[in-house]
Amino acid sequence: MAWRYLKQVEGFWVVFRQMFKPRVTTPYPKVKRVKPQRFHGRHVLNRYPNGMEKCIGCELCAGVCPARCIYVRGKDNPVDEPVSPGERYGFIYEINMLRCIFCAMCVEACPTEAITMTQLFEMSVQGREDAIYTRSELLMSPDGVVPHPQPQSKFNDLGELTLADGWMRATAAAGRAEYQGIRHWTPTAGAGHRPPEQGQAADGVPETEEESEG
Ligand code: SF4
Ligand code: SF4
Repeated sequence: MAWRYLKQVEGFWVVFRQMFKPRVTTPYPKVKRVKPQRFHGRHVLNRYPNGMEKCIGCELCAGVCPARCIYVRGKDNPVDEPVSPGERYGFIYEINMLRCIFCAMCVEACPTEAITMTQLFEMSVQGREDAIYTRSELLMSPDGVVPHPQPQSKFNDLGELTLADGWMRATAAAGRAEYQGIRHWTPTAGAGHRPPEQGQAADGVPETEEESEG
């Protein structure tokens, strides 16, 4: 019997000692951890500083996606009012977030950096349909704001849409010769315009807002 009491005291002693140690967890969702630079959250479709869409509807992202959750259809740009600097643009773009594994292969495959990821991961929905993000939910507005299907709530922090992922990119030998072997971080989408990555602006498209205005 005495042995049992001794074991209980020993257990209390373990708990008591832990009470004075610093916490290793955070009281989520009240407190949110700062995410790593390369965190993979929900996607966004970007624009160039002059408002043109970066997506050229090439479907490479859909082809590389291991979860087969991207559906893109490309369409020829209207001659008088082109949507993107390329010949085509993505007029249908959908991602089924229920199937997405957030691997970012789509981001790696995109030749224009049209699709990137933000740091938002709180995406609770009430029905399956709501989990399919369409072009209207993915494409940033001309002033650089990223839309989201759910309003701000205690379950999501839309401020995280303004925090973009960062990518360490290495230009492949098959890329532009002048950038071969050059690696650097690239901030991508977020609230407001960000300059495109080195060498990623389409010919004739200004790389900065100043150039765009000038
Ligand atoms: S993050 Fe991965 S799984 Fe999700 S859409 Fe992109 S390629 Fe597909
Ligand atoms: S997001 Fe990129 S890879 Fe996908 S269709 Fe548009 S341009 Fe092509």
